[in-house]
Amino acid sequence: MTRTLDTVAALEELLGPDALDTDPAALRAASVDRFKKYPAAHGIFSGPFPAAIAYPRSTAEVAAVLRWADEHRMPVVPRTGGTSTEGGLEVVREGTIVLDGSRMDAVLAVDPVNMMATVQCGVPLQRLEDELRAQGLTTGHSPQSKPVAQYGGLTATRSIGQFSTLYGGIEDMVVGLEAVFPGGLVSRIKNVPRRAAGPDLRHIVIGNEGALCFVTEVTVKLFRYQPQNNRYLGFLLDDFAAGVDALREIITAGYRPSVCRLYSPEDGAQHFAETACGKNIAILVAEGPAPIADATADAIAAAFAEHEPLDPALVENWLANLNWGLDKMAAEKASMLEHAHLGYTTEVSGDWSRITELYEAVMTRIRTEFPRAADLTLLGAHSSHSYQTGTNLYFVYDYAINCAPEAEIDEYHIPLNAIIVEEALRVGGSMVHHHGIGKYRTPWTAVEHGSAYPLLERLKDAFDPNGIMNPGSVLPLDR
Ligand SMILES: Cc1cc2nc3c(=O)[nH]c(=O)nc-3n(C[C@H](O)[C@H](O)[C@H](O)COP(=O)(O)OP(=O)(O)OC[C@H]3O[C@@H](n4cnc5c(N)ncnc54)[C@H](O)[C@@H]3O)c2cc1C
Repeated sequence: MTRTLDTVAALEELLGPDALDTDPAALRAASVDRFKKYPAAHGIFSGPFPAAIAYPRSTAEVAAVLRWADEHRMPVVPRTGGTSTEGGLEVVREGTIVLDGSRMDAVLAVDPVNMMATVQCGVPLQRLEDELRAQGLTTGHSPQSKPVAQYGGLTATRSIGQFSTLYGGIEDMVVGLEAVFPGGLVSRIKNVPRRAAGPDLRHIVIGNEGALCFVTEVTVKLFRYQPQNNRYLGFLLDDFAAGVDALREIITAGYRPSVCRLYSPEDGAQHFAETACGKNIAILVAEGPAPIADATADAIAAAFAEHEPLDPALVENWLANLNWGLDKMAAEKASMLEHAHLGYTTEVSGDWSRITELYEAVMTRIRTEFPRAADLTLLGAHSSHSYQTGTNLYFVYDYAINCAPEAEIDEYHIPLNAIIVEEALRVGGSMVHHHGIGKYRTPWTAVEHGSAYPLLERLKDAFDPNGIMNPGSVLPLDR
């Protein structure tokens, strides 16, 4: 209690009283993220709770907080949009400061000559994207959480969007950035087209999940926005493996559709109930300058020539309604409370040669080994981000909850997540494609990285020697 009072008093002195939230309801809500959305919807929070939520307005204020926190060994959980799904925002230590960058929300520069935009960490992607599209530009970044997610979190989680097969993930978009490390060191990585001046330091910051540093500013690439050239394509397939083969053919031949997705029948039925008819569905969008979009669309049509085409209007309409926002979150909460039912996802990746094996192994293990399989109302998967060497699989699972709300994650979410992670690692893939490790995949961080794991530990020890940054995220608490 005294430490909490000390923390609040110190933060007030550093940032001023308007920059602090110590309302008990806000502190309870800030102790978890969407991994615990079900108990949270019931108002069940088991703590520990943060001492305060602090809203800095500048890099200097972030540095002041991290200097004080490091000196006094107080834990810090960085936050921006709050859409985290893997426990990355969960508070595990008493006295934690939730350091929320959402008031640092200025678009600092849009440079249409050098094709870059610089934003503070609290700029929501949707706002930047709206401003850019009005000028005929785009970031090319479009995660489903785009209306709410902000640049600090988008960078810190290695986020990826629906158009990634053309534009890449955030790691392909970030040109330079600014971050603050424990102790208050402000580091700016300058904007250059490329350099060979030693290791790429951006990658210490991108994907750090708030466990090494706080991202204050990001510069991303821009592209021309030319939706008038978009070509929408969709196909129905009897066989998931045939869809994987068609995607691999398109990508390895050198074509880059922006959207490149393959849905299992169960997952596809969520989006295309009337057309799916128990089949797998492939959805693709070709974009760019007209000759490139046309050539890409022709290559897609050739690769799927043996499969039944869908009406392109269906695909265009699906894409226009895919994004999530606060309205959908409110509807989801109401539905969880009314029906004791919810849905989650786990996203992994693997080589082309083993992705179908991974898909089948997970589906079989969950159906046969998961003790509460009878409660599943949906089990399916889709591939949504493809690369020269392989693709991702995004497993989706919905279930009816037949236990107390606080037992839900142990009875359902954790065992389902574990099967998917174990199978991805077994086939030599990655246990996490884009949501981050958070706090619930840390039991496998060492296996994921193998003999490179000591590098990760040394990064943590070097940049955060007192272990104040997001304890329990990325690396296990008890390592
Ligand atoms: C419905 C839904 C759909 C989603 N779709 C996608 C998708 O398509 N693609 C995708 O990649 N993700 C998706 N996500 C996950 C999530 O939106 C992303 O991880 C996003 O990048 C998080 O951004 P945020 O601003 O909300 O970060 P937050 O939730 O605030 O934080 C996420 C993590 O980053 C850290 N962090 C936040 N801000 C900073 C900072 N300034 N400095 C250092 N660390 C920081 C936090 O400590 C936490 O570990 C989805 C989530 C939901 C709920």
